[in-house]
Amino acid sequence: MIICDGMGDRPTKVLNRLTPLQAAEAHTFNRIASLGECGIMDVISPGQPPGSDTAHLAIFGYDPYTQYSGRGAYEALGAGVDLKPGDVAFRCNFATVNDKDFIIDRRAGRITTEEAKILAEALKDIKLEDAEPIFVSTTEHRGVLVLRGDKLSRKVSDVDLHEVGVRVSKPRPLDDSVEAEHTARVLEEFIIKSRKILQNHPLNKERVIRGLNPANAVLPRGAGTLPNVKPIHEVWNIKAAAIAGGALYKGVAKALGFDIIHVPGATGTVNTNLKAKVQYTIDALKKYDLVFLHIKATDTVSHDKNPVRKKEVIEWISHEITPLVDLIESQGYYLALTADHTTPSEIGEHRGDPVPLAIMGPNVRRDSVEKFDELSCARGGLCRIRGVDLIKILMNYLDKVPLFGE
Ligand code: ZN
Ligand code: ZN
Repeated sequence: MIICDGMGDRPTKVLNRLTPLQAAEAHTFNRIASLGECGIMDVISPGQPPGSDTAHLAIFGYDPYTQYSGRGAYEALGAGVDLKPGDVAFRCNFATVNDKDFIIDRRAGRITTEEAKILAEALKDIKLEDAEPIFVSTTEHRGVLVLRGDKLSRKVSDVDLHEVGVRVSKPRPLDDSVEAEHTARVLEEFIIKSRKILQNHPLNKERVIRGLNPANAVLPRGAGTLPNVKPIHEVWNIKAAAIAGGALYKGVAKALGFDIIHVPGATGTVNTNLKAKVQYTIDALKKYDLVFLHIKATDTVSHDKNPVRKKEVIEWISHEITPLVDLIESQGYYLALTADHTTPSEIGEHRGDPVPLAIMGPNVRRDSVEKFDELSCARGGLCRIRGVDLIKILMNYLDKVPLFGE
């Protein structure tokens, strides 16, 4: 399964009212459409803009409305934290806050990954009264905080509201439980103590001298707990592996029971080593029934509001996956090519329009669609499906779906 993040789009002015997929010369994508059965997919439900986390749950057959337990947990798993039941995890930003407690810069002057690691090391000294904090920095200003202890809840508000020029908000309980109130208090204690350490850290003092914004605050958001789901290998009796660069995608896959295959140079950015990812996917197909290959670049350039660049990224991906598609065709494997949501590149945010989908393989009912894009695929034999149905459609081809009735 190849998921190009945020690849779905809308007609764009700079591409003559075509979507980037329509405008692209993506020969291998079009070959998949020609060989396969095509359709469009409402990843969550018609009109519902998905987050990447809920979208991937749906695509792997898990109802996001009942089985989503907050983004922080996936980020923590993806960052390599051994998350345990009862832990509460948060995504965090290193940020710059002024002495009146206003957020000046949510990315702390674009602090580097190396600098953030040094600061994260200093935060290891923090002792809290009622919980153990585990802080890990990931890429650039991003990091993960895990609170480990008794009576913790994910029902606490975000400290980072995605806004600058506002005062740092205090963590609040989001329900009436003792646990939520307790967690809000523990989190506040961490924020205060981390602030003290960061403010006095030599690295930050030096940044100020150099005229850079200091990373003097940690702003947590997206509280989450380990999701309690039946792993995908048990649901379908298959061996499943995931190849992704971004921490979130590795985390979602790990939470669902995929083996994570680490690929050198897979960064989750446009500079990723896609050649290596494709080669590792080819190798993984020898050992696994299902291999999930995630490619982030299409979403990144959409958030940058760059339709032309998106068209180029699509052409690049289509070219790079050619050896993989050759193998799939020659070995009689199945391939599903789709996106986790639409990210219109004129808006730069996720939207709820359906995404194109093509499934190729020896027993699919090949339809007349010959181009992989939002409109061509809508004329295909799969018509319009929901994200949660995709995995069963694939497993049906692998004879993994038990009979219902006699
Ligand atoms: Zn996404
Ligand atoms: Zn996105």
